[in-house]
Amino acid sequence: MRADNLSVVVEALQKLQPISRSALADATGLTAATITHMVNELEAFNLLVEAPSGERNVGRRPTLLSFNRQRGQLIGVEVSRTRIHAIRSDFSGQALARLDRPFRPTSSVKKGLSTICEAITELIDPALPLLGIGVGIPGPVNSTQGIVIEPPNFGGWRNVPLTSALTERFGVPCWLDDDAKAAAYGERWYGAGRHEETLLYISLRSGVGAGLIVGDRVYRGAHELAGEIGHTTIHVDGPLCECGNRGCLETLVSVPAIMQEARRLGLDAEDPADLHRMAVAGDVLAQNIKDRVYLYLSAGLVNAVNHYDPAVIVLGGQLVRAWPDLTENVARKVKGRSFGYLSKDIRIMESMLDIDASALGAVAIAIHNILRDPAEALPGTSHAEFSVVNS
Ligand SMILES: [Zn+2]
Repeated sequence: MRADNLSVVVEALQKLQPISRSALADATGLTAATITHMVNELEAFNLLVEAPSGERNVGRRPTLLSFNRQRGQLIGVEVSRTRIHAIRSDFSGQALARLDRPFRPTSSVKKGLSTICEAITELIDPALPLLGIGVGIPGPVNSTQGIVIEPPNFGGWRNVPLTSALTERFGVPCWLDDDAKAAAYGERWYGAGRHEETLLYISLRSGVGAGLIVGDRVYRGAHELAGEIGHTTIHVDGPLCECGNRGCLETLVSVPAIMQEARRLGLDAEDPADLHRMAVAGDVLAQNIKDRVYLYLSAGLVNAVNHYDPAVIVLGGQLVRAWPDLTENVARKVKGRSFGYLSKDIRIMESMLDIDASALGAVAIAIHNILRDPAEALPGTSHAEFSVVNS
């Protein structure tokens, strides 16, 4: 019950800060006494700051509460098949520094872990307390236990206890999630889907990944596989997919599938950006490839809209960057084909966080876990210590 109330207060603060105690009570439906108790708990861990409001309310200015940005640093890391992209942020999720490193999961797990640790070490500001680390990595993952299960094309990585290895190395709590789910979380809190409780994020690159946010939380399903839109069937007799099925969305719109089709048609294109330039210059075959991809992709999104009814769909990844007309084109097709009343309000947008989405999402996951259980996540900063300081 206490944890539930704290979650409700944290989420309201995250959405509405700076906010007064009485407005917080109104927004959450909790009593003033409960709000006071929860705020005291967060303040005991130095997680909030108070500032006087500009408005006078019956003679006195209410105090406004915000998260304490200066409380310490967080590190968010996206690990992909080719690189590490890491971000150092403050406690509000504001990125302060970034770092990129090449990454080869196929060399060895030990080498991979040490590359990740080196990148984190380099990014840490030694002058600030480190509060936690979040990681987004190709799925499948066990996010509760912090285990990388066995991502496709990821060398010998099988059941790797990544978060416990990082906690052992850095002495702080760590969390991990599937990279697309982390990106969905990033867009929900800091990007295109701010203030939306139901959001679907889809990444279009070497694979088609997706993350679904329902009621402000990542929706996982029974096996952490919910939202695998890349493996929904678009063409029942289509090409064989890695997952064993045929005609999955991924076999039709992933970057490797697109480039294979380009080669089959004899087009001299290195990557999707090349294909776009050729289409713009009037190459009919290149334009046909793009048109087919938009048709398949919109079919996949129509299925997703009819399944999940998200308020917003956020599209990100290499293909979205390479084809600047993708989002608008697909949005138009989806609106024409979804269940009438559903499609009216749906917003289909480009990622706002771009290449930062997964790493910033990993930061958000770390911040929210710390806020939900500060006593567990911030050992050494006991109530007693801060009660003395505050009194
Ligand atoms: Zn598949």
